[in-house]
Formats: sequence, structure tokens, C-alpha cells
Amino acid sequence: MLRRTALTLGIRLCSTGVTRGPLPDVVRPNSDMLEFRELFSKAKHIAVITGAGVSAESGVPTFRGQNEKWRKWLSQDLATPEAFSRNPSRVWEFYQYRRDVALNKKPNAAHLAIAECEARLRKQGRSVVVITQCIDDLHHQAGSKHVLRVHGSLMETRCLSCGDVAVNKRNPICPSLMGKGAPDPDVADAHIPVDKLPRCDKSDCNGLLRPNMVFFGETLDSHILTKVEKEMEVCDLCLVVGTSSIVYPAAMFGPLIASRGVPVAEFNTKTTPKTEYFTHHFQGPCGTTLPPALAQHESEFM
Ligand SMILES: [Zn+2]
Repeated sequence: MLRRTALTLGIRLCSTGVTRGPLPDVVRPNSDMLEFRELFSKAKHIAVITGAGVSAESGVPTFRGQNEKWRKWLSQDLATPEAFSRNPSRVWEFYQYRRDVALNKKPNAAHLAIAECEARLRKQGRSVVVITQCIDDLHHQAGSKHVLRVHGSLMETRCLSCGDVAVNKRNPICPSLMGKGAPDPDVADAHIPVDKLPRCDKSDCNGLLRPNMVFFGETLDSHILTKVEKEMEVCDLCLVVGTSSIVYPAAMFGPLIASRGVPVAEFNTKTTPKTEYFTHHFQGPCGTTLPPALAQHESEFM
């Protein structure tokens, strides 16, 4: 199983139309909250997979849809290694904007419910891990401790010369990006010289920094993936929250867990290409559906 999982997850980050088609012997999901709560009360290792929908409910733009452009471009045009090497100024403007927005948003009821559940279950010797595609900091801000970020972080940089990864929440990230990054389609590029873009502050390095994120076409961090695979092997309940399940390989995490016979509940505003793989589906904003699902169960002791 581990080997198969590794092979499946080792593909590059991509956004794709998904071939529909149910697995054989799959039962369509139900929306029975009492049944979910019964499973929840017995689970020892809960994996919560979150995606852009959770951030969107806090007002963080997701740049996922065809209509969600920054200036004239889709995220897939900017979040690539080629775009960054061709025009690092434009790509840094895009990320300056995304960092500025994310730094001014607050966790919502879904983030808080997940963090509260983790803290409560820890006292009972049970575990909750968040496996997130979100690149903002909202799970941490809500208090979640065990978070695996499969797509990296908006608030980290990586040096292209020395490889140093650093947390960086400065806003603007450097003086030349002050007031830059406006998303409107008629705004002109700032054309910032490369030596004025964010640079490494390790002694004698001064290398160009990039966002420490997985760009489209890049492979996911193998250390993080190894941890994700381990969590996927041990979890006995999985929640798939606010993800449209179209960005690979993360879109396969839930279905792979379901293929082990583990209950997987999807919380989303609509059905997704992966809904039919799951045991439960709860429709609506996750800030509304998740808190009652993760609230203290009558069988829990404090
Ligand atoms: Zn460096």
C-alpha cells in the first residue's frame, strides 16, 4: 500500500479536468450526521484534509476559477517556475498582493472548530492532523498544532542560491514592493529590478528569494509527502473539507484513504468529482457544517 501511495502521490502539481467514473463496489455518500457522529466518537486518528474553500470563507481569494484573475492572468500563468524566471517582478507583485490579503484575514468557524477539536481530543489520547492545500496561515492562527502544508506557505521564502527557507511575514516583504501588487486588470507591471526584489539575508548570500510554495509543474516536498502518507495509513476517519478535489496529487488523498475502507466525509458547498468515492457528504459552507460535526460528543470524557 505504501509503495502504491508513493507512486500515486509522486506526480506533479497540476489542475485538471477529472475523469469521472465510480469505483466498483462504492456506495454513494449519505448525509446522516448521527451516523457520522457515531464514527467520530470512536475515531482515534482523524485526518482533516482542507482546501481553498476553507480560506475562501475567511475572504482569502483562491485564484482557482477561470474568473479569478490577477490583472490579466490566471494563477496557472503566474505560479510556475517558468513565469518566475521570466518575470520575477510580476510574480512577486502577485505574491505581495496575496500575502497582504492573507495577513489581514482571520480564521473562521471551520478553522476554529478543527483547532478546538484537536486540542480537546489530544487530552483524550486521540489525534487530529490537518493536511492542507491552503497556503495562508489561518489554521495556525486558529490554534491547530499538527498541520502538514502540502503546497507550501505564503509566509515562507526560499533562497534560490543557498536554499535557506525562512518564515517571513513582513508587509511589504521589501521596500520596492510597497504599494505594489494591485490586482486590477488595468494596472501596469512595476518592473522592479531583480536586485530590488526580496533577497536572502544570510551572510554573504544575497540570493534572490522566491515564495516557498509548490508552483504548478513542480513536485511536492518529499519530506511532507512521507508524513502525509504515514497519516493516511494510520487514520481511522477522514474529513475532506472545502476542496474541489481537482488539484493533483492532493485530490487523491481522500479517495486513497477511502480505498482502505476508512470512512471519509466530504464537507463542501457542492458535490465534487470525488464525492462518489466517499461515505458521507455534508453540503453547505464548512463554517456552518463543520462545528456541529466536530463538537464534543456525549461519549467524550474531559
Ligand atoms: Zn541565500
